[in-house]
Amino acid sequence: MTVTCQHGLDVRFCLTCQQAGETVPLRRDALRVTEEGKPALLLRTHLGSLEVTTLVSDGKTIRFETMKEISLRHPLTVIPFNQRKVLKLFLELTLRKGYLFQPDQELTYREPREEGPPRCCFDFSELSLEKGSLGCTQCGKYVCQCGRCLCGYAGQNRRGQVFIGPPLPVSREERMEYIRVVRFCVDNIERRPKAKVFQLADFKRKSLKRR
Ligand SMILES: [Zn+2]
Ligand SMILES: [Zn+2]
Ligand SMILES: [Zn+2]
Repeated sequence: MTVTCQHGLDVRFCLTCQQAGETVPLRRDALRVTEEGKPALLLRTHLGSLEVTTLVSDGKTIRFETMKEISLRHPLTVIPFNQRKVLKLFLELTLRKGYLFQPDQELTYREPREEGPPRCCFDFSELSLEKGSLGCTQCGKYVCQCGRCLCGYAGQNRRGQVFIGPPLPVSREERMEYIRVVRFCVDNIERRPKAKVFQLADFKRKSLKRR
């Protein structure tokens, strides 16, 4: 059975779909618990399969595991389970394993200047502090959502000097998953206070309407 994508191609061979699929955010309910009680993040479901790809933590490290989706429990059914604490741990371990960091200042000279932020040399996505791009702890430059940074890249810098970066410290495919995990953790660790503000504004709007 072939599945045709929205671009009218066999979904297995459509590059646009593949790239979108690679960087798609995790499901909102991605945080689960394994049969052994370890926290896990559901990373990928596979068409026509009951097995899913997860990232499991034992508290000290993380590793990819394939398991049946049905064996994963929802964290609300496990007591005690501090979701925020678990997400913070996942964030810390994932940053370390993916050679990633969250920049607190611009990583390129050109970014705040006329030249503007750099782009990924592969998919031309903008890389900047403003866009929330992560940094690579090995080359110190931005990492694109596709997992690429200046490591493993040979090219010319803005002064025309040729350089060859060190090899990627972790496979691009793995790093791409780590980046999705970092996004998920950051969003969900920060979500709570934002949600409260929204509810309050929402309530005020409703009560205004009533008057
Ligand atoms: Zn497509
Ligand atoms: Zn790098
Ligand atoms: Zn890229």
